Amino acid sequence: MTLPLSGGCACGQVRYECSAEPLFTAHCHCRDCQKAGGGQMSTVSGVPSAALRVVRGETRSFHYAGSSGKGLERHFCPTCGARLFTDHVGAMPGVIFLSVGNLDEPARVTPHMHIFTASAQPWASIPADMPQFPGMPG
Ligand SMILES: [Zn+2]
Ligand SMILES: [Zn+2]
Repeated sequence: MTLPLSGGCACGQVRYECSAEPLFTAHCHCRDCQKAGGGQMSTVSGVPSAALRVVRGETRSFHYAGSSGKGLERHFCPTCGARLFTDHVGAMPGVIFLSVGNLDEPARVTPHMHIFTASAQPWASIPADMPQFPGMPG
């Protein structure tokens, strides 16, 4: 994979770069992804925290309690509201969840599993041949 992975929000005010390959890429069906994204799930790449750098603008963030009861911090563009990444993931320290729809070239990553399927909606489409985990894998 050619690095960095670059991306940004819808209005262009916030830009970021990721200097490491994603550790994993997953479709996430947690309730926060449903509420924040407004759809059945969101698609995220887990990247090492140290590898992600905001290179333009500043995010705002929203703190919420994850399903583990540990807090998470979801970052978004203060102007256009685009969801960008989630950090301080209590259940997975040192990993940032990058919303891959914001990448300049989302096709560079390939989702390989569905996570938090315990809260998947009954009308969500999950291919039978794709690994599924009721919560966070492992
Ligand atoms: Zn924006
Ligand atoms: Zn989620």
